[in-house]
Amino acid sequence: MVNLVIFGAPGSGKGTYASRLKEKLGVEVIATGDIFREIVKEDTPLGRKVKEYMEKGLLVPDTITLEVLKQSFAKIPKGKGFILDGYPRTMEQAKALDEITRIDAVIHLIVPDWIIIERLSSRRICKNCGAIYNLLYLKPKNDMICDKCSGKLYQRSDDTPEVIKKRIEVYEKQSQPLLQYYKERKVPFVEVKCEKLDVPPEVMVEEIFDGLKKLKLA
Ligand code: AMP
Repeated sequence: MVNLVIFGAPGSGKGTYASRLKEKLGVEVIATGDIFREIVKEDTPLGRKVKEYMEKGLLVPDTITLEVLKQSFAKIPKGKGFILDGYPRTMEQAKALDEITRIDAVIHLIVPDWIIIERLSSRRICKNCGAIYNLLYLKPKNDMICDKCSGKLYQRSDDTPEVIKKRIEVYEKQSQPLLQYYKERKVPFVEVKCEKLDVPPEVMVEEIFDGLKKLKLA
């Protein structure tokens, strides 16, 4: 059983790598961004509130986020580990997490801004099954249709260059103290750099997996 946190700017590949590592490691993935998108779809008072923050590229308040996280942990089968994607994003969230569970390692993806902007502007997601595509290097057979389930592909409303820049800015500011926090607490790091736009996901996943093996966590 291994408990991991994955850090990387929006568009660094976190979601794609986490879903592949899920299979390889036999863990659950908790992606707070995905959970919030589901909540927004429900069009409840909570959904409308969350939507306001997400559309501006701002963080959803900690009180809401922590509640959502606790509900997600409650659903993990006993004895199964997890990868947290998109959480923690504030020191308060990191401290709250430490009170709930232990973290065995931090996966840190290092990707330059220009790659992120190129990638996110061409990202498409399946409305039905959530599969992630990229029109540049992870192309669906048909631009608008999911290869796996024939669902319709869409572009996230916050995957526009203006909101992307804001999200990178928010990420940089928020992640630095968090990475520092885990380093000070001597949580082991698996650091992976991506310097090209079209590195296949399986190459990156293999690199992360090797890093985890070296730590005897895989
Ligand atoms: P992501 O899919 O991780 O890029 O998240 C998309 C959006 O969901 C973010 O821009 C935030 O508005 C919100 N969000 C996701 N995770 C968190 C979190 N841990 N704390 C606060 N807001 C979050």
